[in-house]
Amino acid sequence: MTLIDGKKLSKKIEDSIALEVDNLKPKGVVPGLAVIIVGDDPASHTYVSMKEKSCKRVGYYSIVHKMPDTITQNEIIETIEMMNNNPRIDGILVQLPLPEHIDTTKILEVIDPKKDVDGFHPYNMGRVVENLEAYAPCTPAGVIEMFKEYNISLEGKDVCVVGASNIVGKPMAALLLNENATVTITHIYTKDLSSHTKKADIIIVGVGVPNLIKEDMVKDGAIVIDIGINRLESGKLVGDVDFENVSKKSSYITPVPGGVGPMTIAMLLQNTLTAAKSRES
Ligand code: NAD
Repeated sequence: MTLIDGKKLSKKIEDSIALEVDNLKPKGVVPGLAVIIVGDDPASHTYVSMKEKSCKRVGYYSIVHKMPDTITQNEIIETIEMMNNNPRIDGILVQLPLPEHIDTTKILEVIDPKKDVDGFHPYNMGRVVENLEAYAPCTPAGVIEMFKEYNISLEGKDVCVVGASNIVGKPMAALLLNENATVTITHIYTKDLSSHTKKADIIIVGVGVPNLIKEDMVKDGAIVIDIGINRLESGKLVGDVDFENVSKKSSYITPVPGGVGPMTIAMLLQNTLTAAKSRES
């Protein structure tokens, strides 16, 4: 079994981004990322502070707009529009989830697609589905990078994606299809989940249920990618896969933490760099 080391790969990507940032400096370009966070959800604040730290590490300009959960939708929209018009900002990220009184779709649609480094705007999502150049959502894009790094070909492979959200499962399926994989998407309404996972060469799970994928749901030698992040009552961080037992059957597997998580941030930095490099166009 080979452990797919997302921490190591993300560091390698960060190092090459930092070099590119140095090369951009003489041209007067410093990539800039603006993050908007609403409310006081501790997990969201942890993610934002990790993103801020990684921006610092690679030499980006970054600003964080912290807003109380009493904020109105219009006030958030005004802030996004300000960032859309700010020439120092190349990427805008709205940390999800937003409070219930805010219409997430409306908010995401206000972001200029050229600054949509999270890849959640329907414009970018549509272009991803059509296999055109676009900002792909960072988590599934990070998973594709892992396959590339470990020379795992996706062509013709049977891949079962478990979870079908707009930010994880659906764009994951689209990116896999673009790599010529045969994709099955499963979700909460799937009748017999294990009948699908058992057939798969590759299982990619992003659900938010600890231990959902067990040993008897995985065929021998399968590749297992765990996107889930769950904090147990004990404080321990786990994914959606019963790692201890599934790892014994799999050929490759990602750990949690240290798997897909760091790759998500690396892809965010990558998308922001791409946006900064295309400032002129
Ligand atoms: P979501 O709640 O929006 O979607 C969950 C999906 O899982 C839905 O499609 C639902 O139908 C499906 N599902 C729920 N229970 C199921 C079950 N028992 N069997 C099969 N399918 C089931 O969640 P999300 O935002 O897509 O996040 C999913 C997980 O991925 C969470 O644990 C989240 O923390 C994690 N996540 C990790 C990263 C990262 O960087 N590693 C990024 C985003 C999300």
